[in-house]
Amino acid sequence: MPAKAKHRRSKTQRITRAAAVASAGGAALALPLIGATGAHAATGDTGAKTYTVEAGDTLSKIAEAQHVDGGWQKLYQANKDVVGSDAGLIKPGMKLTLDGAAETTAATAARTGATTHAADFVKPVDGATGTPYHSSGSMWSSGYHTGTDFVVPTGTAVKAVGAGTVVSAGWDGAYGNEVVIKHTDGRYSQYAHLSSLGVSAGQSVTAGQQIGLSGATGNVTGPHLHFEIRTSPEYGSDIDPLAYLRGHGVGV
Ligand SMILES: [Zn+2]
Repeated sequence: MPAKAKHRRSKTQRITRAAAVASAGGAALALPLIGATGAHAATGDTGAKTYTVEAGDTLSKIAEAQHVDGGWQKLYQANKDVVGSDAGLIKPGMKLTLDGAAETTAATAARTGATTHAADFVKPVDGATGTPYHSSGSMWSSGYHTGTDFVVPTGTAVKAVGAGTVVSAGWDGAYGNEVVIKHTDGRYSQYAHLSSLGVSAGQSVTAGQQIGLSGATGNVTGPHLHFEIRTSPEYGSDIDPLAYLRGHGVGV
């Protein structure tokens, strides 16, 4: 397995190293040394590589640090039983398998009985949801929140939730830097408050393709991604974005 070959540093090796330190120095140092390495990938008795989630971890962070082929989506698929329905909600102490992440999409589909349709749509960003759709308040011109917010720091990769064509990419007042995509089913997705734009109008995009970076441009109190699904490119034609994503097999 290529993922494994790249990571020869195992827990066993680290313990051996720590034990050597312990015999040379003080035994009290051995355990804190293991805990302080910051690396938590370990090879268990079965040979399966696992990772224990730490506070502040996200699936994309782990996937990148552990070089998981297929990124956080693969990692999430392989650990859906542990993580649950929200890929943005992982808790410290969760044990994730890294080997399973190398499983092919076809194998996953065969095992879970899922159709390949699920891969057609993805979350717009790897993060937990914040202010929900239709939350009421005076700060929105329509009187309610026309999208769902994802709580992510500035600079987080924002991805097209599905294949489509970029309708607009540019400044849009309160929305700051914004991208609107028309999808093949006739729905539109909107991504607002971006710190940078990675696409331009007329461009075709695939599901999961990076279209910009999240930020805090426009009318915001802090960095986040404001995400809408609309029946037209215009403001006010919004529908429930999470229901839309779930309808396309996305765990949000
Ligand atoms: Zn919002």
